[in-house]
Amino acid sequence: MGIEEKLPSGFLLSTVEGLAGYMRKSSLWPATFGLACCAIEMMATGTGRYDIARFGMEAFRASPRQADLMIVAGRVTQKMAPVVRQVWDQMPNPKWCIAMGVCASSGGMFNNYAVVQGVDHIVPVDIYLPGCPPRPEMLLDAILKLHEQVGSTKLGAHAVRENAELEAAALQA
Ligand code: SF4
Repeated sequence: MGIEEKLPSGFLLSTVEGLAGYMRKSSLWPATFGLACCAIEMMATGTGRYDIARFGMEAFRASPRQADLMIVAGRVTQKMAPVVRQVWDQMPNPKWCIAMGVCASSGGMFNNYAVVQGVDHIVPVDIYLPGCPPRPEMLLDAILKLHEQVGSTKLGAHAVRENAELEAAALQA
């Protein structure tokens, strides 16, 4: 049933939070960077064949200051970890993160001293996407699941998360 049939009077009632969530999830802009082989599948997701533009996301941003979604596509080396964190810090709130592939999620097969054993040691992760590499359809599915989270995020919730992060960093220092 179309929305016109549900709303013959032409009125749509919602909350400010609901409206903000709808607008946020309809225009997530990912930061442009890839770390390893998973990035090839992420790039494929941006092509016409998979048409990520359907979800208002075709604009991968070259500047983190214009992005609100970090897709960590590939393994994160210890040397790269501070760079990933810096990119995350430069992204304005509210922001979200997808760990794409088993390497980004847990280190994967690279169980060694040179690779971070899960990007959640560096940045907060909202969605863990398994696979080596995950196909573009899987990334799209993860993005749609993230949309559900974004759509139901309460206003100000990310400020709480940021404060918790800062407190955790202060405890580690
Ligand atoms: Fe490469 Fe597989 Fe690791 Fe992705 S999960 S970065 S495809 S080895």
